[in-house]
Amino acid sequence: MQKFTLCQKDNIWWGSFDHLNRAGVINGCSCRLHGESKIVPGTLNLALHVGDDRELVLRNRARFARALGVEAARFTTCAQVHGSRVQMVETALIGSGATDYATTVAATDALITRLPGVPLLLFYADCVPILLADPVRKVIGLAHAGWRGTVAGIAAVTVAKMQEWCGCAPEDILAGIGPSIGGCCYEVDDSVRSQALAYQDFFQPRGGGKYLLNLQGINQQQLVTAGLKAEHIVTAGICTAANKELFFSYRQEQGHTGRMGVCLCLPA
Ligand SMILES: [Zn+2]
Repeated sequence: MQKFTLCQKDNIWWGSFDHLNRAGVINGCSCRLHGESKIVPGTLNLALHVGDDRELVLRNRARFARALGVEAARFTTCAQVHGSRVQMVETALIGSGATDYATTVAATDALITRLPGVPLLLFYADCVPILLADPVRKVIGLAHAGWRGTVAGIAAVTVAKMQEWCGCAPEDILAGIGPSIGGCCYEVDDSVRSQALAYQDFFQPRGGGKYLLNLQGINQQQLVTAGLKAEHIVTAGICTAANKELFFSYRQEQGHTGRMGVCLCLPA
């Protein structure tokens, strides 16, 4: 059975989790191909905060929205700060940051909503996208987990907020762990390891005080610990750094790059 499928419509490419699609949840992890960015010409940068031309970013977003079948004007975004703050998206926040970075939800790394037809949109270039959906209570959550957010437990915190605010049962929640830098490529040093003492098993020593860090694995474990069924968690298993023709990689491109968008939306 397919688990994570690359899709294409009108020359826009994205990856999608089949178990979320089967549950009726619109989900897409964009690729970098075939956009109109200025910062990295010809790519589909979807973020307004990386020095790109705003009009071009909005055109890229409009094409991504059309391909997924969501409304670009209702994209709801947040200013991701590698923390663990989660925001519930109610009606007043619909469209935050959709056309102007100034209106994005401040200092937040995960969004939750019960509202149909509200496409949550977070931005990534190596960090780990965590897509959550409770098909029983019709609630979705989308989190951004770099190493700091991962160590701060953003995936587990988002699940806890879905329980607290929406009555979700963890055993009903489906999860996708999207394309992100893999344990094959993500080299870190002791300063990172010393701040992640609870996760030593996910650091593979390479000598010289360097380690390969498996962030996807830590997030997977966090979700199981939070009560999700292992069979409900699908890891795309794609390393952004090893596939920089398809994905932006902050590491591979020394920080001068665009951002993929991950969109999660309950159907309208
Ligand atoms: Zn890799």
